[in-house]
Amino acid sequence: MRHCRITNCPKPARPGRRICDLHRTRIIRHHNPHFTTWTVADDHDVQALIREQRPAEGLTRLERVKVAHGLTDLGLPATEIARILGVTQRTVYRWRTRTAA
Ligand SMILES: [Zn+2]
Repeated sequence: MRHCRITNCPKPARPGRRICDLHRTRIIRHHNPHFTTWTVADDHDVQALIREQRPAEGLTRLERVKVAHGLTDLGLPATEIARILGVTQRTVYRWRTRTAA
C-alpha cells in the first residue's frame, strides 16, 4: 500500500489516491494539508449558530466547543446542546468543564 504523500504522515493513502482521508479533507476544506481543525474557528459562524440554535455540519472542533459554551451561557440544557451539535451529553459536560482554546 502506498503512503500518504504529505511529509511525515504515517497513514496509508486512500486506494487510487496519493493522500490519506484526513489530508484530503484538509486540502478540500482549507486548501492546506497542515491545517489543524482544533485551532481555527470562524467567530462569525459561531455567533450565528449560537443565535439561531440550529444544527450545523462541518464545524471544526473548536467551533463546536465555542458554540457549546455560548449555548451554555444562554442557559440551554446539555441535552439540547448535544442534539444541536450532534455529540453526546457527556461530550458537552466535558467541554463545559474546560476552557476552549
Ligand atoms: Zn496524510
